[in-house]
Amino acid sequence: MTPNLKMGLTSKILLGMLLGVIFGLLLRNIFPDSLFIKDYITEGFLHVVGTIFINSLKMLVVPLVFVSLVCGTCSLSEPSKLGRLGGKTLAFYLFTTAIALIVAITMAILVHPGNASLAAENLTFNATAAPSLSSILINIVPTNPLHAMSEGNMLQIIIFAVIFGFAIAHIGERGKRIAALFNDLNEVIMRVVTLIMQLAPYGVFALMAKLALTLGLETFGSVVKYFFLVFFVLLIHGFVVYPVLLKLFTGLSPFTFIRKMRDVQLFAFSTASSNATLPVTIETAEHRLGADNKIASFTLPLGATINMDGTAIMQGVATVFIAQVFGIELTITDYAMVVVTATLASIGTAGVPGVGLIMLAMVLNQVGLPVEGIALIIGVDRLLDMVRTAVNVTGDSVATVIIAKSENEFNEEIFNNTQAGKTTGSFKKQVHAGESEQS
Ligand code: ASP
Repeated sequence: MTPNLKMGLTSKILLGMLLGVIFGLLLRNIFPDSLFIKDYITEGFLHVVGTIFINSLKMLVVPLVFVSLVCGTCSLSEPSKLGRLGGKTLAFYLFTTAIALIVAITMAILVHPGNASLAAENLTFNATAAPSLSSILINIVPTNPLHAMSEGNMLQIIIFAVIFGFAIAHIGERGKRIAALFNDLNEVIMRVVTLIMQLAPYGVFALMAKLALTLGLETFGSVVKYFFLVFFVLLIHGFVVYPVLLKLFTGLSPFTFIRKMRDVQLFAFSTASSNATLPVTIETAEHRLGADNKIASFTLPLGATINMDGTAIMQGVATVFIAQVFGIELTITDYAMVVVTATLASIGTAGVPGVGLIMLAMVLNQVGLPVEGIALIIGVDRLLDMVRTAVNVTGDSVATVIIAKSENEFNEEIFNNTQAGKTTGSFKKQVHAGESEQS
């Protein structure tokens, strides 16, 4: 037997990241102010390769969410089951976001990262107006589903797909034919996901190199305590809170879960977008973790849109930090207000880079804190965005496994099979549900 010298996808992605950072830092230090590097490498080659990678992931999001959710709902034909699934998912998402915020705020009060001297800095930040609650509610129902798809409006696509799938389940024989067609389409899209995942090492190389070349960390010094506090709470949430919840609710091994989540987390980290990561999250939940398509196709797109625990953590710590910097005492009612508004803000945060920081303005306004405070933390937000996105997608996946298990729509054999669904070096060679890899 020849030794298997082929590297797994995860190792290749990690290598891509590492080489990207090294490449970027080297260029930055060897040619500090070179316009050539800026125009042709940073904004040229690296920008093109990185953007093509992210675009190719985004390209799949709308067809994948629509097709996969239609498949999921046509097999969930009873309204009561659908209602229960929706209720459970929302309750679980709100529950984990509340835990995230309570831990974040408590830690920020205890560690006290804000220092009043920072307020002397010249701060300006132009807040974009956050949408009102009524417009968020009205906009859930699309007036034109094609428009919703062309705009990538996830909640509207979810609503339309659920109604469409539900109707398919209720038109008898003809519905079965359409359902079979959607199932085949779903397989095709999943295959394309596998193909694009093969390109990830090159994509993340470009993204990381560009980041290393452009990231300005000048403001880092003054907010170092804030940065590490957010980072620490994110780690606690991702590696302690979620695993404990998984163990408590399902009895499954958190270690297996964490191991199988690695690719999803790396994609989320390098793209800083829950939406762009969605194809990989769905593929992993179904083929590697063992959640049935009925559940994953519903919980994951919904989670990528409304469940942002990592973002809530940043918003919780940032609010307390800004209050401390400006010497404003927050009362217990204010803290409760922060929990409520940051939960709503994280629901309203789109799964794309940087939006969490914009939504922070809404939380600050609500508790009467100066929005200019955001200028203080903007310099370190890009890095935190990457980490919090990894936490956001982990939260969606934990919820999916827990809900799938509670609905008996979970394949424990797949979960426990370390090779199940593993993407190997080749596009054709993906190990499928319940099989074990032949090498
Ligand atoms: N980038 C985050 C996500 O996609 C959202 C945010 O916090 O800005 O999940």
